[in-house]
Amino acid sequence: MDSISHIILSQKAFFNSQKTKSVATRLIYLKALKNEIISKEQAIYDALNKDFKKPELETFLSEYGLVMSQLNLVIKNLKKWSKPKRIKSSILTFPSKDYIYKEPYGNVLVIAPWNYPFLLAFEPVIMAIAAGNTVILKPSELTKHTSQLVTDILTTVFPEAYAKSIQGDANVATELLTQKWDYIFFTGSVSVGKIIAQAAAKHLTPVTLELGGKSPCIVDDTVNLKLAATRIAWGKFFNGGQTCIAPDYIIVKRNVKQAFMVFLKDEITRFYGENPKESVDFPRIINTKNTLRIANMLKDAPVVFGGTIDETNNYIAPTLIDEPSLESEVMNNEIFGPILPILTYDTEKDIDRIITNFEKPLALYTFSNNKTFVEYILNTYSFGGGVVNDVLIHFGNHRLPFGGVGASGMGIYHGKYGFDTFTHSKAIIKRGNWMDPSLRYPPYNGKRNLIKKLFKFFS
Ligand code: NAD
Repeated sequence: MDSISHIILSQKAFFNSQKTKSVATRLIYLKALKNEIISKEQAIYDALNKDFKKPELETFLSEYGLVMSQLNLVIKNLKKWSKPKRIKSSILTFPSKDYIYKEPYGNVLVIAPWNYPFLLAFEPVIMAIAAGNTVILKPSELTKHTSQLVTDILTTVFPEAYAKSIQGDANVATELLTQKWDYIFFTGSVSVGKIIAQAAAKHLTPVTLELGGKSPCIVDDTVNLKLAATRIAWGKFFNGGQTCIAPDYIIVKRNVKQAFMVFLKDEITRFYGENPKESVDFPRIINTKNTLRIANMLKDAPVVFGGTIDETNNYIAPTLIDEPSLESEVMNNEIFGPILPILTYDTEKDIDRIITNFEKPLALYTFSNNKTFVEYILNTYSFGGGVVNDVLIHFGNHRLPFGGVGASGMGIYHGKYGFDTFTHSKAIIKRGNWMDPSLRYPPYNGKRNLIKKLFKFFS
């Protein structure tokens, strides 16, 4: 633990040396990071495959490719993003030139989860560095190979006083949280999110919490059911169902439920074959503890497809559950695995009864060609973000902010929003000296009416 304090002290000194304020320096390191990641491309695929049999294409799409696109974006735009921004002046402060200065917070702590262990470690690190901070990353202890590779990459590119990965479990995270940080960025579960928020509150440290929840997926009777089933099956079983924004459960209109279920079963079989355990395209559950947690959800559940469990190989088949009760195990917690419960609705009241049973979700998906219905859903429910007629893909557009609301998290990132997250916007007015209206100065006698009129006129 002594070494942790030592690294943190060296990062504080490095930040205070003002070296990270140089945009040219940031760019040199970000370009070096990009080159190092490119040189490790195959090693990244191999590490993810060793950790939970993640297929290469899924690793490209959701880890390597997204990290590279964030790096390219930030390298292209950093000079523009970090420049003081001239803002229109207010007539009430006339004469003046007004600006927003982009100030790094200082020493940042990033704590990452295991489910996208490369992307969710690197994306916040990249944006924290781009914004001019130092970073300590605590990657997940559950993805040994990927976390080691992430650590090696950071060690090769950065001096430890600038960016460092400290591996370890909850004890190491707890030790890190006793320190005073200038910003904490956490991705993980709701329960640990609350621990992070408490630790941050002690020092009034600003914090981003990227959490989870039960994300609903509504399917009405106006859509192409086969297309809906294809997209939903892809998004649900991608990464073995271990995606924070995966559709957690379906709410389908009763009159199309049977047809929809047939399409879903067909699509799952088309993707992964008759025995998904033999498919190289279907990942494993991360460890035994999670396999048992998910298996427990299947006990006494009305399984209508899949349901095979092989605990010794951390395998759970893509599984459909028909109409579980809202009180059942599978509907009580975020599933975070390849199980898809199908609930039905007749009226909007039924949808409401189901959705309001849970905390505000991280995502919500609506499959419908009925514009009125879509707008009703989008405007009625609070959720982090979502897609109409598809799933997951809002994560991939860096022009959209990504984050939760309520119990699914606080704060946003991706693209420029990520840079802004790690940046304090410092309001600066540079006052002109060539005139100095005397209205604000004492004696105030007789000035109130004129000031009132000015306020009314200019506001
Ligand atoms: P987790 O909360 O168990 O662990 C996340 C990180 O916190 C790990 O690095 C872990 O070592 C650390 N940690 C664990 N216990 C801690 C403690 N007591 N104090 C401090 N740190 C501690 O989450 P997980 O199992 O790695 O990830 C799954 C969860 O993450 C799911 O709920 C999922 O929805 C959520 N998630 C959210 C997003 C998002 O972008 N919103 C993305 C991925 C995952």
